[in-house]
Amino acid sequence: MSNSPFYSEDHGLFRRTVREFVAAEITPHVNDWDEAGGFPRELYRQAGELGLFGVGFAAEYGGLGEHDALLLCIIAEEVARCGAGGVGASLFSNYISAPPIQLAGSDAVKNEVLPGMLTGDIVCALGITEPGGGSDVANLKTTATRTGDHYVVSGQKTFITTGMRADYVTTAVRTGGPGPSGVSLLVIPATVDGFSRTSISKMGWWCSDTATLYFDECPVPAEYLLGVENAGFPIIMNNFNYERLQLIAGMVGAAQVCFDEALAWARDRTTFGQRLADHQVIRHKLVEMDRTINATRAWMELLAWQINQGERPVAEVAECKVQASLTMELCAREAAQILGGASYARGNPVERIYREVRVNAIGGGSEEIMRDLAARQLGI
Ligand SMILES: Cc1cc2nc3c(=O)[nH]c(=O)nc-3n(C[C@H](O)[C@H](O)[C@H](O)COP(=O)(O)OP(=O)(O)OC[C@H]3O[C@@H](n4cnc5c(N)ncnc54)[C@H](O)[C@@H]3O)c2cc1C
Repeated sequence: MSNSPFYSEDHGLFRRTVREFVAAEITPHVNDWDEAGGFPRELYRQAGELGLFGVGFAAEYGGLGEHDALLLCIIAEEVARCGAGGVGASLFSNYISAPPIQLAGSDAVKNEVLPGMLTGDIVCALGITEPGGGSDVANLKTTATRTGDHYVVSGQKTFITTGMRADYVTTAVRTGGPGPSGVSLLVIPATVDGFSRTSISKMGWWCSDTATLYFDECPVPAEYLLGVENAGFPIIMNNFNYERLQLIAGMVGAAQVCFDEALAWARDRTTFGQRLADHQVIRHKLVEMDRTINATRAWMELLAWQINQGERPVAEVAECKVQASLTMELCAREAAQILGGASYARGNPVERIYREVRVNAIGGGSEEIMRDLAARQLGI
């Protein structure tokens, strides 16, 4: 559906460029990268050269200028077509961690981080979730206490994507009293004293590094504060909308891989004297997959277009994230059934995507939390 009316000719050209890059430089390697638990750092530089980190970042730092949510969706969907969600998760951790730096950072911090991030030489991570909980962001426990020209940061963050290789972590900290009005955002260089990290092994997204971060009285210069003290919560919430859109696009891409794999298999394989695709049960499964993918993608594109018009469809983005994880779940399940035993073999994209469903249904705001947010926004 790349001929959607929301896309310009430039969008189409950009999609083709990303698709070719993914087919040539990513897809052939994803199985090895996933088994190895990581992809080469060089991939950041290749993606930076193509401008893949530039959406929404000002030209003065090397970005593409004005924000374009449709472009963000194109990149996330096309990279997900490689069939390993860990690539997009790690490669684009910059998109969830660097926008607050551009929005609220001092000129010095922006100049220190953004140009290198856009070329792929600097990697940023977002540190919100803590061992004590991720959904209830307003109750986070990591503290940052001002002493002279520094903040002293103490606490832990966990499940942090690119946590092991990040050069900077955009970190949610408590600088004030309880609740959302005591939360600030601090960019923490990975070189500060007292900072350490350990890797987490996971069900899926194997080639995306995920870490627990430990802050043991880390002295962080006060100029790394984003905006003013205790004003971090709205920035975090606004940032989630783009993260969720990116996740939605990744899920649409993954669901599409499941459909493509299942369709090719169903056309090729014969059981009981006819192609799998000629059995009505299998035909219906394929149509259900195609139907839900088309509906989810169309909704995502509409939301991206609305965001480009200056609207803030918070409830709808939350609902669409639920729609996307249910779509991915359905497609992973039905593709696995259609492939039969072959879907259970390591290295098959359907096997990999099947293991990646849950992180999408939980990360960046779980299905339960998304429904709750939508209910509040809709005044239910
Ligand atoms: C691979 C991976 C990568 C991640 N990357 C990052 C990252 O880069 N940065 C980052 O900050 N975080 C990251 N996360 C964390 C992720 O965002 C959290 O896991 C998620 O927000 C849920 O938080 P939690 O795991 O602490 O679950 P909890 O908040 O403890 O919730 C547990 C369960 O209870 C449900 N629940 C909670 N409250 C309610 C309620 N009020 N009503 C109904 N149900 C409720 C939740 O939906 C969930 O199913 C990542 C997670 C994973 C698995």
